[in-house]
Amino acid sequence: MVGWLLALVAVLTSSVHQVDATAHSTTDPASVWVVVNKTHPLPAGFRPELAIVRGYQVARPAARPLERLLGAGARFGFKIASAYRSYAYQEHVHAATVAARGQQAADRLSARPGHSEHQTGLAVDLVTPGDPGCDFDPCFARTPAGRWLATHAAAYGFVVRYQPGTTAITGYRPEPWHLRYVGRALALELRRTGVRTLEEFFDVPGGDYPTPR
Ligand SMILES: [Zn+2]
Repeated sequence: MVGWLLALVAVLTSSVHQVDATAHSTTDPASVWVVVNKTHPLPAGFRPELAIVRGYQVARPAARPLERLLGAGARFGFKIASAYRSYAYQEHVHAATVAARGQQAADRLSARPGHSEHQTGLAVDLVTPGDPGCDFDPCFARTPAGRWLATHAAAYGFVVRYQPGTTAITGYRPEPWHLRYVGRALALELRRTGVRTLEEFFDVPGGDYPTPR
């Protein structure tokens, strides 16, 4: 009897924690689950509803959760280095990088316009000015701040979007400083299931740009 009850409880709890993968759109640019990658660009004209967090523009749904995350990690002294970036701004950055370094290097260093998650306003890059040695470097993952984010960001609805070993899937190299807001339910579900990318969870293609310029 006890065994049967435990089994029933296990089934009920697992179904309670399951996330309905169709609850939000993955193609609507304003959806918190939108998948943006090198094969799924955003429209040039898309601009999210914005709010201000510590002087930076972020999409409205991500603003309060970001404030809570930054508050909870206050001892690391996180600073936002980049949040919402407009299509025009990304176009400018990418064109300048192409001019300076060539197309191939530019594609490694910055997203083409429309292909950056930052245009959704749901992505932020965090740095730690008090301990800046690993800012924007893969070694950020091994710092106390980077480890804390990897463990605790999900509780605030954020995921580390570009993790080691997922470049072929996401199209981007590991960026342990780049957080993407997806909401707490999905962030915790990804952690529970061990699925590391939105592409795999939603079965959406990713990878590199389909055609070189
Ligand atoms: Zn970023």
